[in-house]
Formats: sequence, structure tokens, C-alpha cells
Amino acid sequence: MTIRKLFLLPGDGIGPEAMGEVRKLIAWMNETMSTCFETDEGLVGGSAYDAHGEAISDSDMEKAMAADAVLFGAVGGPKWDDVPYEQRPEAGLLRLRKDMQLFANLRPAICYPALAQSSSLKAEVVEGLDILIVRELTGGVYFGEPKTITDLGNGQKRAIDTQVYDTYEIERISGVAFELARTRQNKVCSMEKRNVMKSGVLWNEVVTATQKANYSDVELSHMLADAGGMQLVRWPKQFDVIVTDNLFGDMLSDVAAMLTGSLGMLPSASLGAPDGVTGKRKALYEPVHGSAPDIAGTGAANPIAMIASFAMCLRYSFNMIEEADLIEKSIANVLDRGLRTGDIMSDGCTKVGTTAMGGAILDELKALSA
Ligand code: NAD
Repeated sequence: MTIRKLFLLPGDGIGPEAMGEVRKLIAWMNETMSTCFETDEGLVGGSAYDAHGEAISDSDMEKAMAADAVLFGAVGGPKWDDVPYEQRPEAGLLRLRKDMQLFANLRPAICYPALAQSSSLKAEVVEGLDILIVRELTGGVYFGEPKTITDLGNGQKRAIDTQVYDTYEIERISGVAFELARTRQNKVCSMEKRNVMKSGVLWNEVVTATQKANYSDVELSHMLADAGGMQLVRWPKQFDVIVTDNLFGDMLSDVAAMLTGSLGMLPSASLGAPDGVTGKRKALYEPVHGSAPDIAGTGAANPIAMIASFAMCLRYSFNMIEEADLIEKSIANVLDRGLRTGDIMSDGCTKVGTTAMGGAILDELKALSA
């Protein structure tokens, strides 16, 4: 039997509460399905700072590097607002992304039919929506040098950020987008600002060349990133996979997120390059939401984003497509039956807490698998 090594980093706030529901799914799958997950757990964020004085310890970092996949909850909270910058809770996540070289961030925006009415857009615009934003995560303007604020000495200061991309970075992220498109509707839309940015010109050239060379079966279109933002709220269902850089991806994925309702519904994955020998990618799966200190400890957190992140892990790290589909179907069915956590509550539905929602999804999974 293949052993799949999962490293769990629940983190702070609602992170551990949401992770608890995933732990139950893993335990049940280990008991009843032909899977064998070996799990280990570590500390990240504020909880790691309290224990070790840093946002992730070297030994937990080693375990993350050795695992087949990392499941991450959330980090941060007011308790750690004043810790030194280098040890702030987010530094743990940034170190994981950097050391594991997770260059591809995948953010699906799926609108479950039962939640179409709670989107800020008209139901017919979002119902059945299923798009995937592939964002470059380790390059671009967030990391480019120089990155400075200079005192000009005349009462003025000058701030500089540098947008920089090399060919290989664009090739590898567009390769991920084309490969994922092949498992979906086979369409990729690339977004940049080639009308005003040199990096946009190169981005466009390299994505086009990559498609021609290796993915001519996948339909490719291009859109300026600002127009893409408009189209996302006008008619999002025109998109299948969107590939874009770090900065535009940050914004466009948040826009897409709001099409689907609450933050508590949104999973994500961050992937590295395939290993030369095993072909496996390093991978980290996490909900998009933060540690929600306002509801932490009340049992009110929506565990769906965390559970859906686990489903992404099954899909992308272990090729367990059937099991991932079953978990997503279980979520949809439970929502169809009217169960809601507070963040997605609407009239006529039944309000439940974290464990009841997680339990209902597990029960549904059991029923669907019977
Ligand atoms: P947040 O995502 O934690 O919360 C925003 C709002 O959404 C809150 O009202 C919260 O109650 C609600 N919410 C979020 N997730 C929910 C869920 N699963 N169920 C129900 N309601 C949910 O963002 P914030 O308030 O801006 O940040 C709080 C802390 O989290 C800060 O310390 C921030 O730095 C950190 N943060 C961490 C991550 C991460 O770990 N990846 C991401 C974003 C923010």
C-alpha cells in the first residue's frame, strides 16, 4: 500500500478548529478506503512563536520539506501584533512558500448552486461558476530588486518596486495552467498589461510560445489584466483557467473569490516544480481565509474552505480524483440540504457550528461512498 505523508500545520485562531474537521476525514479514509495517510503535526505562526520564538522552527520546516503535502490552517491574531517583524506569524507561511519554492498558486472559484443567491452578483451570473486562477507566486513586483524608499533630501521621498520576470518563470507557470486546463474545459486566458509594461510584453510572448510548442491542443486567449477584472464581474463563466503574474493574480483572485460568497468557502493550493526523479511536486494546501480572531474559539468557523483544500490535496498531490470529487459533492449536498455556518447563513436555512458542519460533510461522504 502506498503511504502518503501529510504534514499538518493548523496554526492560530480558527486554523486548528477547521483542521480538526479534516483530521476526522483523514481518520475515516484511513479506516475504510484503500488509502494510507501518515500524518504528523507541527506549529506555525503565533503558536510557533510562543513555543520557539520563531514563526516556524527548523525541524518543522524539515518535516514540511519531507512530506508529500502540507495542510496549512491559518496564522496571526492580535496577540502577536507587536512581535518583531522577522518573527511575525506570516513569516512562517512566507518561509514555507520560499523554501519549498511554491511558484504556482491555484485558487478555484466555484459557486455551489445552493449559495448562488448569496453572491453580490445576480444568481444567473454566478450559478455553476467553476474557474481556476493560476497566479505566479514567487516572482514579480513583490520580490524584484531594487525595492527601496530613498530620502531625496528635499522633503520628498522616492519609493521603488521592481517588476521583473525571466522567461523560465513565465514558461513554468504557464505550463501549470495549460496542464490543468487539459483536466478541465481546455481553455486558458492569460492576463497582463503589455500595453504599458515590458514585463507584460515578455509575459505575452512566452505564454504564446509555450502554448505553440507544447500545448497547441489547449485554447489560449489573452486579455489586459484591467479588462480581465471587469470581465470577471460582468460574465465570469466565460473563463476556465486564468494565468497571471503575482500582483495581478493577487487582486484578480480576490475579485473572483467574492463571486462565490464567503471567505470561509475558498480553498487554495500552492505547488512547486516536479522533482526530477519522482515527478512529485512540493505542495501546500490552505484555506484563503485568515485566523478570524473575532470568532476563534466560539465554534462558529466554517470548515468548508479547509475541507475543500484537503480535496485539492487529494486531486493535485495524490491524483485521487474520485475521492476529491466525492468530498466536493458531499459539501454541495450538505449545502443543498440547507445547513449553513454563520458566515453563509440565509433565511430558511439551519445554522450550525464548525463540528456539526464538518460532521455533516463526513456523514454525507460516508453515504456517497457506501
Ligand atoms: P480573516 O480571513 O481572518 O477574517 C475576515 C472576516 O471573515 C472575519 O470577520 C472572519 O470572522 C470571517 N471569516 C474568515 N474565515 C472564516 C471562516 N472560515 N468561517 C467564518 N467566518 C470566517 O481576515 P482578517 O480579519 O483580515 O485577519 C485576521 C488575522 O488573520 C490577521 O492576523 C491576518 O494577518 C491573518 N491572516 C492570515 C492569513 C493566512 O494565514 N493565510 C490570511 C489572511 C489573514
